[in-house]
Amino acid sequence: TVFISGENHTMAMKTFAAANLGPILTDNMTRSGYREPTLVQKHAIPMVAAGRDLIAWARTGSGKTAAYLLPIVNKLIENNNEAETGETMQAPKCVVITPTRELAIQTHDDARKFAEGSMVKSVVAYDDTCVGQLQKGCDILVTCPGPGPGKLPDLLEKGLVSFANCKYLVLDEANRMLEMGFMPEIEGMMEDPAMPKKAPEGNRQTLLFSSSSTDEIQERAQEFLTDYLCLAIQ
Ligand code: AMP
Repeated sequence: TVFISGENHTMAMKTFAAANLGPILTDNMTRSGYREPTLVQKHAIPMVAAGRDLIAWARTGSGKTAAYLLPIVNKLIENNNEAETGETMQAPKCVVITPTRELAIQTHDDARKFAEGSMVKSVVAYDDTCVGQLQKGCDILVTCPGPGPGKLPDLLEKGLVSFANCKYLVLDEANRMLEMGFMPEIEGMMEDPAMPKKAPEGNRQTLLFSSSSTDEIQERAQEFLTDYLCLAIQ
């Protein structure tokens, strides 16, 4: 069953063709065996493509990663603005925050697969081996909160990453980040002076994915998102 709430919600798409994802993405998806969109993709891709903030209750295995990465990578390819290479401070256009390095690696692998053959670069950061990769240019940063070198707080503190160009902010498995005690840290990042504001003050698009619905997640959604849609797949 699918539940949707929010003002002016978009219509679900039936096929990937309806999403107009362009030749590079279409090729890469065909090569990876993506033929039919999953239920969460049918609903979420048009929402993300329409620029809406979104909170989605969807589990790992539902295809949620592609549901947000495909429309974001598509926009990055269309806008074709290359990341600055060789810059010490990288300002990715998309930042994906995930609770664990395993999920960060998987998400980065998907981003890399979708962006193959384009100028869009994804970098995964969870330890200090990421620094060299970052400096080759970074459009999509997939990373984790928490202490230790190479995690997002450390990259921000060392001036290796800035939120200045963060048009797309994704909080993946937000319920796990909450359980792991990372929410105060994430709230701090929202207050970072470089972080683009949510609408209407700014143009940040924020997507929050969670495998369970709790009051606390709903409260964070109120805080981080604007005029958002809610999507629940059960
Ligand atoms: P996720 O829920 O994002 O972790 O995705 C679960 C798995 O399904 C991943 O291995 C994806 O590569 C794969 N997958 C996601 N969407 C599709 C699709 N539309 N067609 C085929 N495989 C998919």
